[in-house]
Amino acid sequence: MTIWFASGNPHKKQEASALFPGHRVTLPVEAGIAFDPEETGSTFLENALLKARALYRRLADLRRTGETDRDGPVLADDSGLCVDALGGRPGIYSARYAGRDGAGLPATLTAPERNALLLEELGDNPDRNARFVCAMVLLWDENRFVAAQETLEGELVRPGEGRGSGGFGYDPIFYLPGRGITVAELPEGEKNRISHRGKAAVIIAKYLEGI
Ligand code: IMP
Repeated sequence: MTIWFASGNPHKKQEASALFPGHRVTLPVEAGIAFDPEETGSTFLENALLKARALYRRLADLRRTGETDRDGPVLADDSGLCVDALGGRPGIYSARYAGRDGAGLPATLTAPERNALLLEELGDNPDRNARFVCAMVLLWDENRFVAAQETLEGELVRPGEGRGSGGFGYDPIFYLPGRGITVAELPEGEKNRISHRGKAAVIIAKYLEGI
């Protein structure tokens, strides 16, 4: 079955394709659909639902006009990094984080710039605890969906101590004390097994198997 993935991130598509074997995970851009909804929710779950509903409506329009005949539910996720000592920030704003006084900084920082800013904001605070959170929604129509939310617990490294080249985003500065490595040093398959997104996807995939 086609699973429409309400995302523009090819890296996330690669992860999702591995997590939903046997299904054809498709990004809107691959069907020529421009998709960039505003994330106006105040929680990960609200934002995931908002993205899923936006793509569902778009697909419903295209089906009505005969521009696509591909069925299938819509999958959407919203994720981010929550740092305890920063009161849970950057949280739902993780993709747009630009430092404590972000308003004066360029909107499009690279991931290494963003990581350096976050470590600078945390400074030498001894509380390094943080978690990745992912809310994932599989939506059949406007009012029918299943949702799962999961976490990956860890710690932020000290400034200048980021390492690893795998994954994306905050992975090089997110340390897994149980493993002694950062998420960016995990083999890709292993990240899927333990990550916030991987665990949420397993819950949704089990549900899919059962229907
Ligand atoms: P989303 O695409 O709106 O869910 O934004 C998620 C943002 O949170 C990404 O742009 C990253 O900055 C961060 N993030 C979420 N999951 C991960 C992960 O697995 N590794 C590193 N950063 C992540």
